[in-house]
Amino acid sequence: MTPPEVHLVAAARPNLPKLAALWHALAGRPGMCLPVLVHTGQHADPAMFGDHLADLGLPLPDVSLGVAAGGGHAALTGRTMMALAELWTARRPTVVVVAGDVDGTLAAALSARKLAIPVAHLEAGLRCGDLDMPEEINRRAVDAISTALWAPDEGTAARLVAEGHPPETVRAVGNAMIDSLLRALPAARARPLPAGLAAGGYGVVTLHRPANVDDRAALSALLEAVARAARRTGLVWPLHPRTARRLSEFGLAVPEGVMVLPPLGYRDFLGLMAHARLVATDSGGVQEEAWALDLPCLTLRPSTERPVTLEAGTNRLVTPAGLEGAVAAVLAGDWPRARPIPLWDGRAGARMADHLSEMLDAPGPGTGPRRGGETGTMTA
Ligand code: UDP
Repeated sequence: MTPPEVHLVAAARPNLPKLAALWHALAGRPGMCLPVLVHTGQHADPAMFGDHLADLGLPLPDVSLGVAAGGGHAALTGRTMMALAELWTARRPTVVVVAGDVDGTLAAALSARKLAIPVAHLEAGLRCGDLDMPEEINRRAVDAISTALWAPDEGTAARLVAEGHPPETVRAVGNAMIDSLLRALPAARARPLPAGLAAGGYGVVTLHRPANVDDRAALSALLEAVARAARRTGLVWPLHPRTARRLSEFGLAVPEGVMVLPPLGYRDFLGLMAHARLVATDSGGVQEEAWALDLPCLTLRPSTERPVTLEAGTNRLVTPAGLEGAVAAVLAGDWPRARPIPLWDGRAGARMADHLSEMLDAPGPGTGPRRGGETGTMTA
């Protein structure tokens, strides 16, 4: 008998370290299912996708849909839904796994559920409370329709249950990003640093959130803040393609003295962080990775969907005006060491595989009716 197919949907760079954790756990359980890596195409540039596969021990995607970003959220979501619906009508998986909060995550969850295919959301339950963020809309919408909710910690799982999700669909599995980080760290630490950087002597900058880079005034304020911070310590900034585009559209430039790099491969970026003194970022994943590296993380956002990293001590929310002071605090040694976060232990992949195995064994795999009843087929 052929094993049931489980499709792991990857759309953009941050999906890959999350899915890799599950992929490797499934590779250790041959016969349980046939994992199929589906790439929607949202990030297609090798520097943002293809180059990361080998670093994470992932194969080339089994299916590449080639739905490139562009045309705005609605167009990307719609085109991705259409491509996935076509795929899953011809080749129906038993379960679809979606990760994180990008547009491709939402498109995949919607497509699968409309075809009555169970959906597991890897990294469920994150909330920053800001519904102006496209990612917040995506994560809430995906959680609302997923049949399995894999939360990174117990508090997040408890909140999902409090939101009304049936407890049997919610699992605190731990943080998949940490699985991938721990796996890659020895090789990442051994990577050479870019010429001109000395271990412990620089900070890393990454910025790409629409609220920070799509608005000229916001981006200008951040550039000024980075310039002030650069007076305190050397800074290196691997530029996200979105940010590079906006800088050029707005006629702005990264301050002199800040080392600008292209987006780095997963191991190179991890190595860069592992040897850094601090990171200033608006990335979600980087806040978590900084915790694992016990690296002071200055998050340039008004809120975070990962408050557990604030409680753990490594992460602090800072405004552009507060960046220089926060950098000075780090350099003065005035920053707490990382406190433990339960379940961020490198075993999230195994816990997800355990739940997936239960879903595959169950008669209607994990698809118990949601509170208020399952909807029927609606064509109107
Ligand atoms: N990352 C990378 N190269 C870089 C910058 C980031 O490999 O130049 C990795 C980072 O280590 C993390 C992931 O990309 O694993 C985070 O992705 P991103 O910041 O794009 O998205 P977010 O986490 O904010 O959704």
